[in-house]
Amino acid sequence: MERYSRQQLFADIGEEGQRKLQQSHVLVVGCGALGSTQAELMARAGVGRLTLLDRDILELSNLQRQLLYDERQWNEKLPKAAAAAQRIRQINSDVDVRGIVTDVRPVNIEHYLKDVDVVLDGTDNFETRLLLNDACVKHNIPWVYGACVGSYGVMMPILPKRTPCLQCVFEAMPLPGTAQTCDTAGVIGPIVTTISSMQCAEALKILVGDHEAVRRTLLHIDLWDNHFASIKLGAPRENCPACQQQRWEYLQGKHHPTTAVLCGRNTVQVLPPQTEPLDLATIASRLEPYGTVQRNEHLVRCAMTEHTLTLFADGRALVEGTQDPTEARTLYARYIGT
Ligand SMILES: [Zn+2]
Repeated sequence: MERYSRQQLFADIGEEGQRKLQQSHVLVVGCGALGSTQAELMARAGVGRLTLLDRDILELSNLQRQLLYDERQWNEKLPKAAAAAQRIRQINSDVDVRGIVTDVRPVNIEHYLKDVDVVLDGTDNFETRLLLNDACVKHNIPWVYGACVGSYGVMMPILPKRTPCLQCVFEAMPLPGTAQTCDTAGVIGPIVTTISSMQCAEALKILVGDHEAVRRTLLHIDLWDNHFASIKLGAPRENCPACQQQRWEYLQGKHHPTTAVLCGRNTVQVLPPQTEPLDLATIASRLEPYGTVQRNEHLVRCAMTEHTLTLFADGRALVEGTQDPTEARTLYARYIGT
């Protein structure tokens, strides 16, 4: 146990806490800046099982703040979930880590939550967070919300039935275009490592069973303006459609679109009409005439003049070079099929 000696010396964790961490399963949803730091901190802390979910591939602009990744992984066009799992295995071989290249949706989220003790929010959009909120509250799994843009970040742990959920706090989803994103306002590395570290501290408290120590406020931090604020949350909101009325609107897919514009990427994700896995080899040869085709075990990528298509085995496509869902769907239909 020498590896964890400094953490065990910390009285609120101790040997017993360390054992609990080793028996724990943490789910990290999204392996961007927040998620990749969360994965690393959880692995280094000795969490027994880690499941990492992400739908995207590594981009050069990720390396500015996503500490887990390097240029070699970017050159290989690795999906982030695979690249993160690869690095976690190098960091701590005792961790049972799974990197899954997938888009978290109403149809699959509950499957990924099986046997999970805590969920860390590493997503970059409100839609997925509200879906996570529904699923975690429904299955009584604690989760830790976090988000960053510019030099600003927010963080809040959610203990279902005991503290307000995400829908208690944010009554309705911000309309597209009204909230700033990393696409419009950029983001600096230190805010994402600050927020993800604070999310991980809450996760450690939850995993060792010290629920009393868990933060009961919504934390706002701006590292450029030197602003720190802790907003009291009180009790869950009486008429909350999630934790009080259990309507699970996001889990039922009422708000779930079949295309998504990815944050900061000039890219649209298109979901397949069917759920049968694609034969990547066949797709690769079919795309040969249209552009430069690259293939690895996770994906096929075809760079054409104006667009680049990336196809995953689950049938999803990323269409780079557009922010228009209709154009992306048209390209999907043209090159992959309807
Ligand atoms: Zn609620």
